Amino acid sequence: MLTSLSEMLDRRRREIAATPSLGALASRLGHLLGPLLARPLYVPAEKATLTRDGGVCPMDGARLEFDPLSPQEHRCGRCGAAYTGERHHGAWLWRYHLWLAERAIHLALLGGLRNDAEHRDRARELLLGCAAAYPRVPNRDNVLGPSRLFFSTYLESIWLAQVAFAGALVEAGDPVGSVASRELAPLRAAVRESAAIVGSFDEGWSNRQVWNDVGLLAAGLWLDEEPLVTGALDGPHGLVRQLAHGVTADGLWYEGENYHFFALRGFVLGAELLRVAGRDLYQDPAAGEKLKAMFVAPLDTVLPDLTLPARGDAVFGVSLRQPRFAELWEIARARAPHPRVEAILADLYAAGGPEAPDDDGLSELAEQERNRPPRRVRRDQLGWKALLAMLPDAPAPARGAWVRGSCLLGDAGVAVLRSGERYVSLECGGRPGGHGHPDLLHVSLHVGDGQGRESGIGNRASSSDARHDSRIPISDSRPSSGNLLADPGTGSYVSPSLHWYRSTLAHNAPGLAEHGQLARRAYAAAFAVRGDWSWCHAVAPGLLGPLTEAGRTVILGPRYLLDVVDVEMVGDGVVELPLHPLGGSPGADQPAGEDRLLDVELDRLPLDAAGGLNAVFAPRPGEVARIQWAPGPPGFDFSDGPSRPFLVRAASGSGRWVAAYETQPDAVWAVRDGGGEIVVETPRGADRFRMGSRMRPSVEIVEGDASPVVLEGVRAEPPAPAPPPRARPLVVSCRRLDAAPDPRRWQTTIPAIGVHRLGMPHYRRSELSWREAGGTSADVAIFATRTAVGFAVSVRKPSLVLRPPEAADPALDNEAPDIHSDGIQCYVGSGAWEGYVVVPIAGSDRIAVRAVAGTAGDPDRVSGSWAPTADGWNAVITVNLGCLIEPDQRVPVNLVINEMLPGRVRRAGQLVLSGAAGWVYLRGDREAPGDAARAVVE
Ligand SMILES: [Zn+2]
Ligand SMILES: [Zn+2]
Repeated sequence: MLTSLSEMLDRRRREIAATPSLGALASRLGHLLGPLLARPLYVPAEKATLTRDGGVCPMDGARLEFDPLSPQEHRCGRCGAAYTGERHHGAWLWRYHLWLAERAIHLALLGGLRNDAEHRDRARELLLGCAAAYPRVPNRDNVLGPSRLFFSTYLESIWLAQVAFAGALVEAGDPVGSVASRELAPLRAAVRESAAIVGSFDEGWSNRQVWNDVGLLAAGLWLDEEPLVTGALDGPHGLVRQLAHGVTADGLWYEGENYHFFALRGFVLGAELLRVAGRDLYQDPAAGEKLKAMFVAPLDTVLPDLTLPARGDAVFGVSLRQPRFAELWEIARARAPHPRVEAILADLYAAGGPEAPDDDGLSELAEQERNRPPRRVRRDQLGWKALLAMLPDAPAPARGAWVRGSCLLGDAGVAVLRSGERYVSLECGGRPGGHGHPDLLHVSLHVGDGQGRESGIGNRASSSDARHDSRIPISDSRPSSGNLLADPGTGSYVSPSLHWYRSTLAHNAPGLAEHGQLARRAYAAAFAVRGDWSWCHAVAPGLLGPLTEAGRTVILGPRYLLDVVDVEMVGDGVVELPLHPLGGSPGADQPAGEDRLLDVELDRLPLDAAGGLNAVFAPRPGEVARIQWAPGPPGFDFSDGPSRPFLVRAASGSGRWVAAYETQPDAVWAVRDGGGEIVVETPRGADRFRMGSRMRPSVEIVEGDASPVVLEGVRAEPPAPAPPPRARPLVVSCRRLDAAPDPRRWQTTIPAIGVHRLGMPHYRRSELSWREAGGTSADVAIFATRTAVGFAVSVRKPSLVLRPPEAADPALDNEAPDIHSDGIQCYVGSGAWEGYVVVPIAGSDRIAVRAVAGTAGDPDRVSGSWAPTADGWNAVITVNLGCLIEPDQRVPVNLVINEMLPGRVRRAGQLVLSGAAGWVYLRGDREAPGDAARAVVE
């Protein structure tokens, strides 16, 4: 179906010949391939692996640099140390397989565009190498979906898209295309098999599914298999529906900026492939406008220094001043032109800054980006996609014309207020998805354009005596600039710090003490801009539990930001409001300080925590404040950030927190909360803010004698999403016994009517189906003694693979290693939800018990034993609830049997009492109480 590829190459060949900038790009890309032509091809038939330490510097946690020409030695870009070893090599393979596949495109494209036999032959040789290696790598032990070369399906999808497109390019660029076609038969077989693997795993609404679709689309187009193309494009989770559903009305992908660009790159490659097949995705009636909007929407939220905000699981501090962003917008300019795209490109090229010390083009990965410091970006330094699509003429200069100003992206759930050099954003809704953080009502504050300014100059206000003295000059100190308050995003997914970055406390957002936020719904109830003033008022119902509501109002004026947080709740739960000032570098060169309570009345941020931010507070009656230390935002090399102090304000029950943030020293002297009126005292006099009602939010601002400014912009509450349909819980009988039975004979004690047989319908699979994995089945029963709930299991499984309790932690990821063993996970709802992982100890009748983190489990309450049987193993486990269990009581329970197979690193699957089709990936030991069965006590 890619029949017009030859014509396209011919056309492009003429354009490149006629355009010096495209010619320069082509010759640079050709030159980059020198090392690949000069040495024998290295195509390892080895699987990439994900581990906690593989590819990570043990000294500083930075991800090791990827050098495609150095398979064994891996250098840390931060400290310069070099490392070798299998785990680092396994991590390197992740990039290398993708790199190789992309080099095949790179070679084939240049071979075709320049009629260059050497490049074309190398491309063919490389692709045949990949085709030979592919079937030799096992589809096993994956982290997130089936894959041979990788550990996650979406990575294989990128590879699949690239080798299929490269195969098509080799054929199209070959003067004798039929010869190339015959020779590429082994690649066709590998592509077909990879497409079957990718097609077996549907990830629903996900940035990863976008790439699965692109892989299948490329395979289908090259193999001429219409059903593959149709499914990838128009299937239930195909590209068209991903665009319609996954892209918000504001044009932002729903999973945050990081995944926005990842998904967008997938859509763009898909659109380029379709274009060759004669279909224009940009003109698709259902999806075209969304796709075009994706190029422009990030410009609404980008920070003034051209770094991306790190909402959700995004990488912190990623600058747009890198070739890959320019390349993306060059494609937009060619396919879906827009004045703001034109303007941002012109600004990227016009921006000063250091030239890149080296040309990274050889090691660049188009789809698994590496983040680099901001640099000068040039058109001839882009990649192969630009060679394919970039317009000949450069964008016209248009300094700053891409900026939109203050705006509310209501569907994406973010409000941006811009005034002069200040940028404020408020998290006010959106769809959380798997990569969202519990950070509703989070506030970010960025000041300055980052051009030629130092970040975070320490300029805190002078002493408390001096600040009321109007003779103190207020303009001779330089204001702070850069990120003063920010969402830290996320570092490494396999580092323990993930839990910190995904917590409410790591954000400038209110949460219940020790629990954080309990709901994921918020909306902007008002947003308006008027003259120098703008505001957003956001509301989060149920944020701190049932019958609670939290609201946050940010009001940005010409000299400061006013921040008002309202909490309404029944009772006196403790609510915390953290504030993480990021200016300066406290903690970077000093050990973490002690957490401590502040014993002064809180009206200023203490010096050691201020980080260049002048924060002035209205003390709330009864509030307690403390300074705490935690990792700051991670590096864009995925290392944990250096330890920093932050402020936590805590108070019980309903109430209002008020603060003003400013960057000019002494622009604000004091803030007072006078009920209906908030007063901000400044050197120019008192500013008064009269807040409207809850039903009709508004604020009237009175600055001295000036006439009042009223901000309204009330917005209706969007309808609450319907709760997901929940199947009626499974009801299981719970026989009452005098004591726990002997595990070898429990079936003689519990009648058959109370025994459940678990098999295929209860199986959560990995790469192998239930049958392929051996068809493991089990009989299970729930029973009760006087004060304990018991679990009796009898598993039929030929080989028993038990993890010894003393075995070293393989440090695969953040999951406890005991889940990768034959064993049991027991859950019981005893008021609180308790979970336990139980592993039989080989050579004994004893069991090893671990409480599941995040549940109320206490291993001291668990007892039990196990015994091997003729065809498997039996076990009986009891959990003492510490209270009498009554007849007819309904106890929430669940029981999961982990299945391990010989030779595997990660478990093969699970049998789940409450019933579970689907996949075992990323399940860890977490079973939600909402899915529990109900054990009815006899
Ligand atoms: Zn290092
Ligand atoms: Zn976050």
